[in-house]
Amino acid sequence: MKQIAVISGKGGTGKTTMTAALAGIAKNKVTVDCDVDAADLHLILNPKIQEEHDFVASKVASINFEKCKKCGRCKEVCRFGAISKGPKIDPVSCEGCGVCFRICPNGAIDFKEKVSGKYFISDTRFGPLVHAKLGIAEENSGRLVSLIRKESRKIAEKNNFDYILIDGSPGIGCPVIASITGVDLVLIVTEPTLSGLHDLERVAALSGHFKIKTVVAVNKYDINPENTRKIEALCSALAIPVVGRIRYDKIVNKAMISRKTVIEYDPKSVVAKELGNIWQNILAA
Ligand code: SF4
Ligand code: SF4
Repeated sequence: MKQIAVISGKGGTGKTTMTAALAGIAKNKVTVDCDVDAADLHLILNPKIQEEHDFVASKVASINFEKCKKCGRCKEVCRFGAISKGPKIDPVSCEGCGVCFRICPNGAIDFKEKVSGKYFISDTRFGPLVHAKLGIAEENSGRLVSLIRKESRKIAEKNNFDYILIDGSPGIGCPVIASITGVDLVLIVTEPTLSGLHDLERVAALSGHFKIKTVVAVNKYDINPENTRKIEALCSALAIPVVGRIRYDKIVNKAMISRKTVIEYDPKSVVAKELGNIWQNILAA
């Protein structure tokens, strides 16, 4: 079983368009949307949720006013300024350290597990999808990514799948590290802009650090041929194969609006062929 992660230096480079297209092409696989802070693969794959689970990553304190004697001790010890006069606990500021719970002389602090999000196992027209939704202002997205990747592995093993296709988080932070750790291949999707070039260097350094086989696809390569040449020169210098170029074409947006992959929307289009070639080149990489 091969794990392939699609990542990019920042959002909006066509990473999800690419992942959705590959999900439509690749057979015998499970797809995972690890972009848990801004999940959008479901918009194209239209999942039918089969299982829904809570994501519990931390605990949160609250006050039991039947027991509270308003001594103010909890407010004094909270290093995160989460407790104000009253006392009153702001659940967003509470870091779940548990000090107030331990210090309260009257056992008036409840310290309970906090549901920080949800994850789902769904059916789609392209096979199973594992996806998630992190709650507003919640952290721990790296842990949620690790959790849904673990679920995808269980599904892949149970069904004897050939691939796990991962829509990774953008950037170089904790969630993207959780998205690519242990994968067999990283596909970096980039655009021919100066920021695209800079972002490519950063994400390529990240996958290089973890010694993961890496390939690149240049999206909208024709909007700036000069920058495309610079990107390909950089890839050559870093010994990273370029597995394909995708031209700028309005059908990409039209396909998105109709909640289809480009290949479903117009299988005879040049972009559909370019995407198909990228998958073939990934298999050969
Ligand atoms: S330490 Fe306990 S009793 Fe004192 S104010 Fe806080 S919750 Fe109330
Ligand atoms: S658990 Fe820690 S962070 Fe939360 S309110 Fe208590 S002392 Fe403050």
